[in-house]
Amino acid sequence: MLAADLFWKSFFREHDILIKWLLLFVGAGALYLWIKGKKQTKLNTSEAAKIKAERTKAVEPEVIVQCHHCSLHLPQSEALTQENRFYCSQEHRDNLDNQGWLGSAAWRLSPNQDIRPSALVPDLVVIHHISLPPSGFVDRVSTQFIVDFFQNKLDASLHPYFEEIANQKVSSHFLISRRGEVFQFVSTHNKAWHAGVSSFLGREKCNDFSIGIELEGDSDHPFEDIQYSTLTKLSAQLNAIYPKLQFAGHSDIAPGRKLDPGMQFDWKKFQSKNNIPVEKFPFGLDQR
Ligand SMILES: [Zn+2]
Ligand SMILES: [Zn+2]
Repeated sequence: MLAADLFWKSFFREHDILIKWLLLFVGAGALYLWIKGKKQTKLNTSEAAKIKAERTKAVEPEVIVQCHHCSLHLPQSEALTQENRFYCSQEHRDNLDNQGWLGSAAWRLSPNQDIRPSALVPDLVVIHHISLPPSGFVDRVSTQFIVDFFQNKLDASLHPYFEEIANQKVSSHFLISRRGEVFQFVSTHNKAWHAGVSSFLGREKCNDFSIGIELEGDSDHPFEDIQYSTLTKLSAQLNAIYPKLQFAGHSDIAPGRKLDPGMQFDWKKFQSKNNIPVEKFPFGLDQR
């Protein structure tokens, strides 16, 4: 035993440096292997995540929506979006659907409506003007007040004039803002409450057989060009469904009681832009 002890002691003494190098070498090797192992684990994890993501992507189905006009099913990425509705084509978005709603309009349903008597098909367009408060559009965008008014949501506290009218229950089918936007409140199948006591060539209660279009404006300011263009387009869209439409102003069917659309409305400009036959204007084309 003593001899063996002595042997190892002298061995370590003699090979001291060699042993230290050997230990250093083994330590460095172990460290290298440890780092390599870590890297591989990390690589494996990210690779697995990538594969997982790709698999998820592959199985995630494309959202399918339905055209509001023709009920066709199509991927959302291929559909035209208007508010929260989808359309399969520009043609279907830009025309009246079979429920009497115009796809390209902003839909703001009004409670002020009822059904047309014995399913009457409209054959008259009544043109109006409205601005809230009076001439409110001149120095700010005030279209929303009209929208609120037709939806019975007008806040009477916002203007003295609103207090006078807030309880009136009225509507129209369409409103064209100063910026040319189209709002629709009532389906053309239904009766909107825009004409009041009225008579068109001997036929009373014009709401029963007419479509009301309000232009944001008044008797003192010319209507905007974009309003004429939008009105032209809207008239063509309506005419495609109702080819017997004639055109009159509110003042024509309720004389002495109503003045709109007033002297500022250029009937000739409207008629010529649309190339509507003159016979469709029984009250003529003079400004009045
Ligand atoms: Zn469609
Ligand atoms: Zn009117």
